[in-house]
Amino acid sequence: MPHIAVIGCGVVGAMIAYELSQISDFRVMVFDRQPPAQASTGAALGVLMGIVSQKTKGKAWALRQASIRRYETLIPDLEAATGHSIPWNRQGIVMLCFEGEDLSRWEKLQEIRRTQGWQLERWDHDRLQSRCPQVSHPRATSAVYSPQDLQVDPTALTLALVAAAKQNGVMFRFDAEVTGWQCSSEGTTEQTCEQIHMGTETIAIDWVVVAAGLGSTALTQTAKQPIDICPVLGQAVRVQLDAPMGDPAFQPVITGEDIHIVPLNNGDYWVGATVEFPTEKGEILPDADRLQQVWQSAVALCPDLAQATVLKTWSGLRPRPSDRPAPIIELLTGYTNILMATGHYRNGVLLAPATAQKIREAIEGGLKDER
Ligand SMILES: Cc1cc2nc3c(=O)[nH]c(=O)nc-3n(C[C@H](O)[C@H](O)[C@H](O)COP(=O)(O)OP(=O)(O)OC[C@H]3O[C@@H](n4cnc5c(N)ncnc54)[C@H](O)[C@@H]3O)c2cc1C
Repeated sequence: MPHIAVIGCGVVGAMIAYELSQISDFRVMVFDRQPPAQASTGAALGVLMGIVSQKTKGKAWALRQASIRRYETLIPDLEAATGHSIPWNRQGIVMLCFEGEDLSRWEKLQEIRRTQGWQLERWDHDRLQSRCPQVSHPRATSAVYSPQDLQVDPTALTLALVAAAKQNGVMFRFDAEVTGWQCSSEGTTEQTCEQIHMGTETIAIDWVVVAAGLGSTALTQTAKQPIDICPVLGQAVRVQLDAPMGDPAFQPVITGEDIHIVPLNNGDYWVGATVEFPTEKGEILPDADRLQQVWQSAVALCPDLAQATVLKTWSGLRPRPSDRPAPIIELLTGYTNILMATGHYRNGVLLAPATAQKIREAIEGGLKDER
């Protein structure tokens, strides 16, 4: 029975644990230095821009498509298995288009998605006004509506994944910081990790999955090709109105100028997020002006928001690979059994299901090769 250690219990690590828990032959252990869904996952808005993204081929599209498909059954399955309620919005995403924008790319995307078996609607200004009267921006001239994209509460999702994986026999340890690992064949081209360390404690393993987000940099520091993951800060706000904006029966996510307006329930909304890079000195602190800019842009899109009461603001650090595209889902170079599932940057909630499937395939494939 292969022993698999997953390091990190954000949405990516929890999804991997749940996916691997479907295989009764695997003994899965998850380690995190803090409780689940605290780091980037705890700050995320959970907007899943799969079908409406401009990615149409290759790995980037394959991951998006597989994830959106998986979410359809995943959430009801998790709710049924655990009794947890996972708030999710199945009313789609309305992507606003602005004056001067090249609309032909949306026409092309709509046609490509049709051939791929997905739906996108193009709305003219009148249709936008009738479906989403809350949008009132002089430059928002039309929209693309993606009915099959969705939004999910990332923390509730992660906690449900942990509960379901536990039911299937996965062992979780929180307050457990992995400090390093020990490999056989030190010095040869390919090494095999045999143990992970938590301070003085040692655990024997057959596979390691690094789903440690920003912590992946320190964990791979001694590897032949370390993985450098950099923080990109995001701030967001939760606000409350007396009633939902627009049609209470139609409350999709509204996205424009890289800002998401995410309906929750009874007139509450999440609005975000800023995209803030570290300074040259490597400092990264939330900039209040940047959040204010996002907020003002949101009010310009949906003027009713000006009446809202701010309930809370927060920030989180997105894990972004420093010198390559996100995400990184592959064997760590030079190792036979250390899999990286990290660097999901702005799309970790979206891409978690497909990431977990890839990790499962890699372990199953690796085990077949050994036979
Ligand atoms: C404001 C904001 C809005 C966002 N909105 C969206 C969105 O709408 N849609 C979307 O798809 N994505 C969104 N994201 C991005 C998303 O949050 C991330 O891509 C995703 O959460 C990454 O998940 P993760 O599990 O890889 O990392 P994390 O959630 O950061 O989890 C990593 C875990 O690893 C643990 N860890 C690290 N090192 C160690 C170690 N040595 N030992 C033990 N444990 C360790 C940490 O404690 C942490 O719990 C947003 C992010 C932010 C900040």
